[in-house]
Amino acid sequence: MLALLLAPFSLGAAPRGGNVRPNYVPLSEWARANVFSIHWLEHDKTLELRGRNARLQFNVEARSDARRAEINGLRVWLAFPILYQNGRAYISQIDLSETISPVLSPPRNPRGINVKTICLDAGHGGNDPGNQVGSNDEKKYTLLLAQEVRSQLQAAGFKVVMTRTTDVKISLEDRTAIARRNGADLFVCLHFNSVEQDRNDVKGTEIFCLTPAGATSTNARGEGDTRWVTGNRNDEKNMLLAYQMEKSYEKNLNLEHRGVKRARFQVLREATMPGILIEGGFMSNPAEGKKIYDSTYRKQMAKAVVEGIQAYKRITKGSNATDSDKKAG
Ligand SMILES: [Zn+2]
Repeated sequence: MLALLLAPFSLGAAPRGGNVRPNYVPLSEWARANVFSIHWLEHDKTLELRGRNARLQFNVEARSDARRAEINGLRVWLAFPILYQNGRAYISQIDLSETISPVLSPPRNPRGINVKTICLDAGHGGNDPGNQVGSNDEKKYTLLLAQEVRSQLQAAGFKVVMTRTTDVKISLEDRTAIARRNGADLFVCLHFNSVEQDRNDVKGTEIFCLTPAGATSTNARGEGDTRWVTGNRNDEKNMLLAYQMEKSYEKNLNLEHRGVKRARFQVLREATMPGILIEGGFMSNPAEGKKIYDSTYRKQMAKAVVEGIQAYKRITKGSNATDSDKKAG
């Protein structure tokens, strides 16, 4: 287990864009308590913490977004920026317990309880086309990808539930209800992105999991309601699933990867099982769009999803293993 409870305290400055003041702890104290060495990769810019089995990097520069971090080489966005004051870096207690810990010291299922049933949620449908780029509707490609993921998951021995198998509109409430009614162990939502401007520059995949209670989402500027919601009961597993999916995406897909992000999408708020929402690239980017519309490339995207789920299943597998047997990252 990681040592987390280091007498937290509040610093004076609230993070920019946020209306909450989390408890912060000095990064150096956390490093010492968890047997990590700490040094600058780039002075006043990037701090690196090295432990026996893990490497963490933190950007401390507020103007280039001090929420940008890496866990074992994968980009993860913190819920709160690192604060850097008078030569000392501070990290929020929420990030220690909800972002770092689930990856380095993963939650386990009770013995005999394993991931078996996956609910795949193809975004949009019916009179909701999702993003539209030229004649291409997002709803068509989320369903095609979900169908490909389904067949690969079934071949790997999983049971699969789909929120839709045809071009119909399903309400957001019904999507999580379908997952719940069918006893799904995981809820995986599939979407594709689009932007109006800078179409050639904006690209990459994003893996979202639910924002922890009290924190601000990656893309929000001062979010209104940050209270605990149903999906927060799975905070640790949500993060672990997102991280393992990010890892599989980086391994399997030759695309840009924008990292693990936080959002309060309704489907993630209401999910009663661990869940993520994958934005599998930008339809608006000419090169990425071509891949999304290509059935051969979609098979590779599906493989990435399946391997991410398999990695999560392996890590959370209930067993008698002791903490020291745990392999993380
Ligand atoms: Zn969408």
